[in-house]
Amino acid sequence: MNLVWYRNDLRIHAHRALQEALQAEGPVTAVYFICEDQWDSHGVAPLRRWYVLHSLNELGEQLAQRGITLHVVDAGDFSQVPQKLASLVREHGVERIFCTREYPLNERRRDEAVAAEMDKQGVAIRGFDDSVLVPPTTLRTGKGTPYTVFSAYKKRWDVWLEQHFSIPGLPGSMAAKSAKFAGKAVVDKALDRVSVPASLTDLWTPGEQAAAQQLEYFVGRHLGQYRKHRDFPSLTATSSLSAALSAGTLSPASCFHAARQAMSDAGARDGAACWIGELAWRDFYRQIMAQYPRLSWGRAFRPETDLLEWDNDDDLFQAWCEGRTGYPLVDAAMRQLVATGWMHNRLRMVTAMFLSKHLWQDWRRGEDFFMQHLIDGDFAANNGGWQWSASTGTDAVPYFRVFNPVRQSQRFDAEGKFIAYWVPELKALDNKTIHEPWKQPLLVPDYPAPIVPHAGVRERVTESFKGAKQAY
Ligand code: FAD
Repeated sequence: MNLVWYRNDLRIHAHRALQEALQAEGPVTAVYFICEDQWDSHGVAPLRRWYVLHSLNELGEQLAQRGITLHVVDAGDFSQVPQKLASLVREHGVERIFCTREYPLNERRRDEAVAAEMDKQGVAIRGFDDSVLVPPTTLRTGKGTPYTVFSAYKKRWDVWLEQHFSIPGLPGSMAAKSAKFAGKAVVDKALDRVSVPASLTDLWTPGEQAAAQQLEYFVGRHLGQYRKHRDFPSLTATSSLSAALSAGTLSPASCFHAARQAMSDAGARDGAACWIGELAWRDFYRQIMAQYPRLSWGRAFRPETDLLEWDNDDDLFQAWCEGRTGYPLVDAAMRQLVATGWMHNRLRMVTAMFLSKHLWQDWRRGEDFFMQHLIDGDFAANNGGWQWSASTGTDAVPYFRVFNPVRQSQRFDAEGKFIAYWVPELKALDNKTIHEPWKQPLLVPDYPAPIVPHAGVRERVTESFKGAKQAY
């Protein structure tokens, strides 16, 4: 018997582990371990849990239609997985396990414990790197060290993919046979424990089929204009595929393949190349996470910045969380996050930089808050994005980056449409005042004045970073 162990790869297409299991001798079965304690300890958003569990139900049905039973085991936390897997292996006479590799520290430790247990049972495990386009330890600088500068990494990433990219197909042996989806009751019980308002779930469709449709729609409608439009939050210009990519209902290989095919159309070439760059960022942060375990212990990528003394001000933090900072673009973005479980990339940078630099709150508080709300909450991308924004991470620019929230607003939401939608108190203002409502306080009695001034932030923050560097 061959066993496919599903984790964050909830699909049947472009899935090497499934493909290889089907090509091996003997029948195939599958398993997924629900680890809610693990989700709790990482503050995983209820919306993301809902997305994963519904995607799991769809996967179970899809596999059953192809003669494969998906077992779902309620495992609590990762420490329970080796024993629970061992029981399943004994019960079904499993000889080989196939899975997609995972790189965060806890996942790697879980897999080491499983490997030791399976070794005792004489069961072979084969892992595949399908959650990324380029496996995280493949590309090294001339000195043999991991890449920490994105532009240099991207150059090598392009070359590697040119030589090695292939996309696994759906094996022919997946003929229509039927099996039973054995795990539905366990998934439904777990779903009963997830409480998410319909106003949030109505916005999203879990599962592989919806993700494939969304990819097709995005490539057909928006990819060509991606470079031009992607920074403007009032436009529907980005793919909204991050939840699918992080739960694995869609593979990065399918995205890359679709974008490369679209490049044969000259009109789409530039947009597609730009979008492929985002898939490279995704891989970049995954290889950073895999090769710098201190990130998984909550530490900064730049060790000297762990000496920074952040303020710990609950009122400021709460105002940021609730979109009451008095800076319209920041507030609109935070309200979008809480109301939809997603935030536009430009705004993730603006809000993260605002919390860490203007409000001088520890970036880890913001990282946790994002995780508690994002449908696409993903440790590598979230930590990478937060550390980049807080200047504790991999940003390679030679100057100190502090976004001016008003300039960002004037530049990326010039007409104030995004702000007017999410901060309706401001919708009557003209497209000049909407970025600086404090200039007309009588028109907006219900909107707060700026919680901190922008003036002086750069100097204060630069001094603190200098101090930390000297003290290190
Ligand atoms: P598109 O623009 O269509 O991009 C396509 C895909 O590329 C995305 O779905 C995503 O998988 C990947 N991607 C795009 N930008 C980045 C990036 N900067 N870093 C890594 N991958 C990227 N992304 C997450 O998936 N999960 C997170 O928890 C997360 N947290 C973030 C926190 C901060 C502070 C910042 C600055 C960025 C974060 N990002 C995160 C990256 C990015 O904002 C989202 O991936 C993107 O907004 C998702 O929208 P989309 O699917 O429409 O992206």
